[in-house]
Amino acid sequence: MHYIYGYEISAFIFLIIITARFFERRNFPNAANKLFGFILWVAITDLALDILSSVFITYLDRYPYWLVLIVNTAFYSLQNIFPVLVIFYILVLAGQIKQFTGAKAAVLLFPMIFFEVILLINPLTKLVFYSNEINIYTRGPLFNYFFLGSLFYMLVTVYYTVKFRSRLQPIQYKTILCFIFLIVAAVLIQYFFPSLLLIGVAIALSITMMFITIQNSDDMRDIVSDVFNFEALLLFLRSCLEDKRPCRLIAINIGGFNRVNSLLGTEAGHQLLRQVGSFLRGLPKGCWSFRLSGTRFAMIIFTGEAYAEVLKALDERFAQPWQVGGMKLNLYVNNCLLQNINYFSSAENIVSALEAAFGDLEKGDNGRSLILEGAYLAAIKRKLEIEEALRLALEGGGGNFELIFQPIYSTAERNYPVAEVLLRFNNESLGSVSPSEFIPLAERAGLIRQIDELVIKKSCQFIINNQALMKNWQGVLEVNLSASEFFSPGFADKLHELVSSYAVDPAGLCFEVTETAATVSCDILRDCMTRLQALGYCFALDDFGTGYSNLVQVISLPFNAVKLDRSLLTDKNSDFAMLFFNDLVKMFKRAKLKIIIEGVEDAAEAEYADALQIDFIQGFYYSYPLPEKDFIKFLHSRLSSGIDCE
Ligand code: C2E
Ligand code: CA
Ligand code: CA
Repeated sequence: MHYIYGYEISAFIFLIIITARFFERRNFPNAANKLFGFILWVAITDLALDILSSVFITYLDRYPYWLVLIVNTAFYSLQNIFPVLVIFYILVLAGQIKQFTGAKAAVLLFPMIFFEVILLINPLTKLVFYSNEINIYTRGPLFNYFFLGSLFYMLVTVYYTVKFRSRLQPIQYKTILCFIFLIVAAVLIQYFFPSLLLIGVAIALSITMMFITIQNSDDMRDIVSDVFNFEALLLFLRSCLEDKRPCRLIAINIGGFNRVNSLLGTEAGHQLLRQVGSFLRGLPKGCWSFRLSGTRFAMIIFTGEAYAEVLKALDERFAQPWQVGGMKLNLYVNNCLLQNINYFSSAENIVSALEAAFGDLEKGDNGRSLILEGAYLAAIKRKLEIEEALRLALEGGGGNFELIFQPIYSTAERNYPVAEVLLRFNNESLGSVSPSEFIPLAERAGLIRQIDELVIKKSCQFIINNQALMKNWQGVLEVNLSASEFFSPGFADKLHELVSSYAVDPAGLCFEVTETAATVSCDILRDCMTRLQALGYCFALDDFGTGYSNLVQVISLPFNAVKLDRSLLTDKNSDFAMLFFNDLVKMFKRAKLKIIIEGVEDAAEAEYADALQIDFIQGFYYSYPLPEKDFIKFLHSRLSSGIDCE
């Protein structure tokens, strides 16, 4: 037979170019990339053997038969393996390869193994091909099995592609369907026109399509620095954690970029990042570099030697200046070093731990190293565990959250017309977590809005559940609100809607806002407060004296009350502090603000507060924060005893 193999030769050259492009850069070492690399080698070899075997078959008399036999057998063997590799590739893309065991794997692999065995014994049995008496290449009785096998694998490919459609990205799904169409068309044409070699061409075309669409290596790379990106880091960490592979992590934050950006512009900053990226890509073998965010990068390293080498290389390089825009500039690095990533249970937790560590590093001098170990690492882990527990508790409806109530004493009325609502979080493994610990974590994790909403709902529910008592008491519940609330658009309306849905009177609620919140979002806060005050709510400025706020700015906000922090009280021993405290109280009185002092713990402090004519006193001396039942009892007893206190 005279084969037409011109198309195959072009396809072969094409595949070589694609393979060179693929291996030119260091590929992200996930299963899909590794398998794709292997498929490329198989496809190239398959095409080369296809061309060779067609030449040998055409001129059978010119070559030794043993050579023809080897080349042809190798070619059919690879052609037989190829569809199975493609199916594996689809399963890897769909994240299903691990589930592919037992009977399923046996059914899939059987036809391939069967044909491999047939091929192996073919020189003796002549079942697939042989050279006849007149030296002409002849197909054996089982030759067509090859086409049947291809058909079977095509059907399996279609089945898995459709079955796992939702797990594949749309582009992956479409590309695989095109691939199937091309191969089926080529197999059919070749079946009816055996001299026209097209299967190799179809394979080359399909692989090119996959390379351009599915295997787009840029998906895993950071555009500016050309190291692997954040998504790649998460994937890498997940796979290391899954395999329990011990590996170390060096995270760096590069400082000095602000100066470059402001002096030379952002393009110069990008140029510098490209230089940094190129340096990181050139770090010793066994080190994988990723861009975490902004000027933060992470290196994952598998051996102790490589770890030491990378640290040394970083030290040496950052001791030298960098050159950009004709200027020489020094950059410095803060390092976070994690000796074993397996201390954490998830990739997200590792990243959060790094963020927390960088946050701590930034509080100190430049160019420092922080080793994540011992008590520090345990503290970070606890924070992450609390965060995770909070998230789960909120998803589960907030059952683990409990409100407690701290009655607040009025010096004028000598009773308790106000109570602060305080939150408790109980978790099976963590125990009872204090709000001083979990509220800042919730703020950082973006969970505080949900928590605040939960507290408002639970407070309203409490009022509704105890309507008669509340009516009798005529008191006000103070609810803490986080600063970030006020940045959410339409917050005032949403809050009022929520309270109205319980038919609770706004006059029974007062919102506490911290001093820091008041200064950060002064104008937005003023708008919100004015709207809500018009509806009947009132506002108290919480924790006054803990921040370094602009007093004028704070006073300019329409607060109804101010809560002085306990720290002002504990400073009362110094004369200056007393003078300051006195004047502060006078000033607030002049501004017509009700004054509440927090944290009064003993009789001396209570007397002191009384002497200053402070309106309200909150503290353990008067009442501890009480669980709901005890608070109800407390109110009942005060109401029945004529609401007198002490
Ligand atoms: P805060 O708003 O200043 O609440 C008063 C804190 O002081 C409470 O701590 C209370 O138990 C404590 N305290 C009361 N009397 C005394 C005393 O005589 N001496 C001392 N040393 N402390 C006293 P808690 O309940 O641990 O709350 C801590 C912080 O957590 C609160 O400080 C508040 O900032 C935050 N928080 C509590 N509940 C919530 C909430 O529902 N939402 C929000 N956003 N934050 C809350
Ligand atoms: Ca408060
Ligand atoms: Ca407070």
